[in-house]
Amino acid sequence: MSTALLDEQQATLTTLLEEKAGYDAEFYAALVELLGAEGAAAAFEQYEKDLLTRSAAEAAARAAAYGGGPVMSGEWALPLDGRFTSCYCQRWGTMHWGIDIAAPMYTPLYSAGDGIVIQAGPATGFGQAVYIQHSNGDVTVYGHMEVIEVVTGQRVAAGQEIALVGSQGFSTGPHLHLEVHVGGVGGTRVDPVIWLANRGIFV
Ligand SMILES: [Zn+2]
Repeated sequence: MSTALLDEQQATLTTLLEEKAGYDAEFYAALVELLGAEGAAAAFEQYEKDLLTRSAAEAAARAAAYGGGPVMSGEWALPLDGRFTSCYCQRWGTMHWGIDIAAPMYTPLYSAGDGIVIQAGPATGFGQAVYIQHSNGDVTVYGHMEVIEVVTGQRVAAGQEIALVGSQGFSTGPHLHLEVHVGGVGGTRVDPVIWLANRGIFV
């Protein structure tokens, strides 16, 4: 996909988000006016406070459950801090072109680096997969997720949550299948453990 097309998609997304923010503000103002008219402004304020308290509690619970976000090293991140269950090696008579990291269903997983989502959705064998191209041209591939939280064309940052762990496709339990294609999709597939270690990330 060309950079121009990606820029265009990004611009469209940004415009839509800005429009949504505008409508949200209008809706909020209308809601406040209505509640104020009913003499319920104070109740609304309390409701908002409760909402903030609740989301802070949820964020804290999430951080406690998942270790407070990704392990980072400079510009790179560990996609999933879980149990290493399969190497980049021969397995059952065929080459396993990635590594497997097991974790409970719905554990968040993160982009290994800054990049652009070049593909996100159903993929043969992987159930669902996300392909992220990084600025050096290398592509990281994430497979088997239950929920994908990014769309094709989206720019992502290192350590940004992109999906939730699942067991879709050819899989016997919830885990991440991670591949690295050097030089782009269809390039040389290398051992993700070594590729990540060269970037200060240890699986
Ligand atoms: Zn695998």
